[in-house]
Amino acid sequence: MAAPTETDVCIVGAGPVGLFQVFECGMLRMRCVVVDALDAIGGQCIALYPEKPIYDIPAHPVISAAGLIEALIAQAAPFRPDYRLGRQVVRLARDPDGRLRLATSAGDEIVAKAVVIAAGAGAFGPNRPPLDGIEAYEGRSVFYAVQRREDFRGKRVVIAGGGDSAVDWAISLAEIAASVRVVHRRAKFRAAPESVARMEALAAAGKVELVVPYQLHGLHGADGALAAVEVATLKGELRTLPADALLCFFGLAMELGPIAEWGLALDRTHIRIDPATCATNIPGVFAIGDIATYPGKLKLILQGFSEAAMAAHAMHPLVFPNQALHFEYSTTKGVQGLAA
Ligand code: FAD
Repeated sequence: MAAPTETDVCIVGAGPVGLFQVFECGMLRMRCVVVDALDAIGGQCIALYPEKPIYDIPAHPVISAAGLIEALIAQAAPFRPDYRLGRQVVRLARDPDGRLRLATSAGDEIVAKAVVIAAGAGAFGPNRPPLDGIEAYEGRSVFYAVQRREDFRGKRVVIAGGGDSAVDWAISLAEIAASVRVVHRRAKFRAAPESVARMEALAAAGKVELVVPYQLHGLHGADGALAAVEVATLKGELRTLPADALLCFFGLAMELGPIAEWGLALDRTHIRIDPATCATNIPGVFAIGDIATYPGKLKLILQGFSEAAMAAHAMHPLVFPNQALHFEYSTTKGVQGLAA
């Protein structure tokens, strides 16, 4: 086995919050290795909603999720993070000298003076409908997220689900798709009321069809290309909807995965932290972003950013035990590689 990589801080998770942790650590001269189970950097923003506009990032009246990640990668770049993608962190142990040793599913090891868990919803994946043969269509005509809106131009789209994603995409794709049908098991949708009102207005204008109360029942097609989606009421009445694409939005299955075995104090699927430092119950291990919980926690990117700043300051004495940390603004310090 290759020698372990030694670093100051190992960050588990390259979502928006893990990325900003690289910046905050870098400003305090701490080097980072960032490990992510996905093949791409960006966590939920890239895996689930890259083209959606985000409106509550301070100083950005609107920014796409992909645009935010691009900016965070650029902000972290001067600190040369070592990204290890496509591998899950599976084990956490402590070496005799007190440092933390992480092992990944790819077989590499990282030895760090501090660990930040920014693992979001954990090893997350979409909830998949239990339809026979769905695997053959996945990624070709059945999708759990929209990577590129343009891919649906001129297509007959069936959207399944009753939450924000289903409603938002119905509104958005109604502009470019040949048809949009929304299948939901009840007449009432669980999305933002303004969005539901917009979708209902589109339905009244004949631009979207609301197929309620129906559930997915079967898929028809060949070689991964969908021809129709069969839906059924609870009483078993069937309807066949012609379709080129099915978008399923049934939320995320959130599993802590191996992290649940590390002896961390948990609150169901979240890690309990001290909100003043983001420290967990394991010395040297911190948690930030969606995976962290404390009274008043909001699962928002901006709150994760603030946690990254607090965690960096709390970690500094572990990485540089004999150095006092003097608080400084970024305007005073500047960022290596950027013009002042
Ligand atoms: P994540 O983005 O979940 O990233 C965590 C990463 O950790 C993932 O890439 C995962 O693969 C990785 N990981 C997990 N376990 C392991 C492991 N064991 N080993 C290696 N890697 C691991 N928030 C807002 O503030 N404003 C919005 O407008 C907004 N809109 C949203 C719209 C949608 C449709 C969704 C789904 C979410 C939205 N959010 C919004 C929430 C926001 O995306 C999350 O708060 C944010 O992504 C959390 O960031 P994070 O870095 O903590 O975790």
